[in-house]
Amino acid sequence: MSPTTSTPQILLAHHLKQLRLPTILREYDKVAQACASEGVDHPRYLLRLVELELLEREQRAVERRIREARFPVVKSFDTFDFLAIPSLNKMLVLELARCEYILRHENIIALGNSGTGKTHTALALGLAACQRGFSVRFTTAAGQLREARDEKRLLKLQNQLQACQLLIVDELGYIPLSPTGAELLFEIFSHRHEQGSTLITSNLPFEEWTNVFGSERLTGALLDRLTHHVHILQLNGESYRLKAAQSRQRRAHAAPPESRDREAGEVRSPP
Ligand code: ADP
Ligand code: MG
Repeated sequence: MSPTTSTPQILLAHHLKQLRLPTILREYDKVAQACASEGVDHPRYLLRLVELELLEREQRAVERRIREARFPVVKSFDTFDFLAIPSLNKMLVLELARCEYILRHENIIALGNSGTGKTHTALALGLAACQRGFSVRFTTAAGQLREARDEKRLLKLQNQLQACQLLIVDELGYIPLSPTGAELLFEIFSHRHEQGSTLITSNLPFEEWTNVFGSERLTGALLDRLTHHVHILQLNGESYRLKAAQSRQRRAHAAPPESRDREAGEVRSPP
């Protein structure tokens, strides 16, 4: 072996890669210098490195779970104004954000009219679950079931929707399901019953779910399973979007001419 290929740094880099410890590889020299100047001993030096690796590994795992959840956009409760929606039980939502309901395989149903923050709440609960180590999958009631046309893709989708620890089905009720779509959703919910958590958002009260599923028998059986262990979130009120747009408009009209231009620009810019 030539002297260059046997230097300890090269071997160390190789072994650390093999062991999948990229953070230690990147940081060991820098941390060694810091520890030397601070007079930190060897066990503590090693501890610092291992802690860095663990932290980054956890961060990467959260990012991977977020990617796999397929959220249309990532939102959290940091940007959610609970005062804007008094009908929503804030204490319950914050308790749910701790994710213990997932361990108990309980469900959540968020009901309310359009624009009241149902999707935002579902996304934020989904994100909280990813951060706490649960596998999550976000889907809309109509969209993906319709996309998976052929048998093979449908089976794959069905398996994915059944396997995750938290399944979010957004916008149940906006579009009536086809008989196959209704059967499929029913089958997925049945499989998940007491095996995993399901979060559904809907603009329709339970009495109208029959119109979505097309069959009273199916809807009854489904509600029976879903509501066995369920937390209901009520979001009734004015549309947040509408309110925000109206208050922007009011501010624009009240403001002096130059700032009015700026405000108007804000309204036109994409969200
Ligand atoms: P829904 O799903 O009930 O129709 P969304 O969750 O899509 O409503 O909310 C519409 C928009 O308003 C989104 O951009 C959302 O982030 C925002 N929004 C709704 N409610 C709130 C709230 N209480 N605080 C902050 N943003 C909100
Ligand atoms: Mg929505």
